[in-house]
Amino acid sequence: MSALVLVAEDSATVRAALRMHLEAHGYSVVEAEDGEEALAVAGRERPDVILLDVEMPVLDGHAVLGALQENSELCDVPVVFLTGRRDADDMVACLGAGAHDYLVKPFEAAELVARVSAAVRVKHLQDELRRRNEELDLVSRIDSLTRLWNRRHLEERLDALCSGARRHGFEVSVLVIDLDHFKRVNDSHGHAVGDAVLRAVASCVFGHMRAEDVASRWGGEEFVVMVPFTGPAGSVAVGERIRAGIETLRIDVSEVVASGSAAASALTGSACPAGEVRVTASIGVCAAAGGEAVPAALLAAADRALYEAKAAGRNHVVLAH
Ligand code: GH3
Ligand code: MG
Ligand code: MG
Ligand code: MG
Repeated sequence: MSALVLVAEDSATVRAALRMHLEAHGYSVVEAEDGEEALAVAGRERPDVILLDVEMPVLDGHAVLGALQENSELCDVPVVFLTGRRDADDMVACLGAGAHDYLVKPFEAAELVARVSAAVRVKHLQDELRRRNEELDLVSRIDSLTRLWNRRHLEERLDALCSGARRHGFEVSVLVIDLDHFKRVNDSHGHAVGDAVLRAVASCVFGHMRAEDVASRWGGEEFVVMVPFTGPAGSVAVGERIRAGIETLRIDVSEVVASGSAAASALTGSACPAGEVRVTASIGVCAAAGGEAVPAALLAAADRALYEAKAAGRNHVVLAH
């Protein structure tokens, strides 16, 4: 199993012996002569395992282990203590402090390699677990139909942005976007066409915002866009761009119809060419500065503005007062 091992040991003779045995078994080795250097090398090289001498100048092994555990980037690296003592108290102290394992000097090469290989296995399993957790976390934040962020992710991002706005006094806006008469799309063309329309609208919304904006599918046929560092005029301009973009969409649903999942006959007699659907959206906008940036209040005010946009005849952008 190839892996990088940090050998932190003040005796050059012991370091050379460790390096020789480890390299003979396919491991790569980096060295440190004292505890401070061990921390610096660990931070730079990200080893898979650390062989850590207990008695070392500057910082001893226990102090190095304590510092590793407080470092979120390094706390998962298994540490194998190298100790000159055989007594149970010392062993208990090493393992109790959070070491993965320990090795008594002088050591047998076979035992060294066996302990390092067990530690590497643990590290690789931990890395895999972390990777899968990160993947799961990402998947749990993405809307499966549109691939936009979902409501949970947007709520978290908006919380963080608003607390930054309250602390530093910058402006934040939100847009609540609701498709007009979307129920009619489903009713006349079928749910599969409705889904295709939602996907097309989502990519249109995404295409009309800046890199720092965050778009989410809030639920159903509603989308929320968070617009950082932007006041009323700027966010209304973003809303207007999105509204106009949706209005000019000519959504080709012929493939959905051809696949048989849509109500093909329902498309005939529509106002659009066969296989094409058009929609509009109403948008409520709310902008807040600094101390007024409260997520629930921003969303509620944008939602009220959305209802005004609906009442004004739909396909409108309205700014909350
Ligand atoms: P309004 O202009 O007042 O917003 O009218 P509307 O028809 O858009 O609003 P309403 O709330 O009456 O209907 C929303 C529709 O959105 C009803 C629901 O079936 C549809 N919808 C919600 N989620 C999905 C989805 O994931 N796929 C599809 N195809 N339709 C959905
Ligand atoms: Mg020593
Ligand atoms: Mg709605
Ligand atoms: Mg609607």
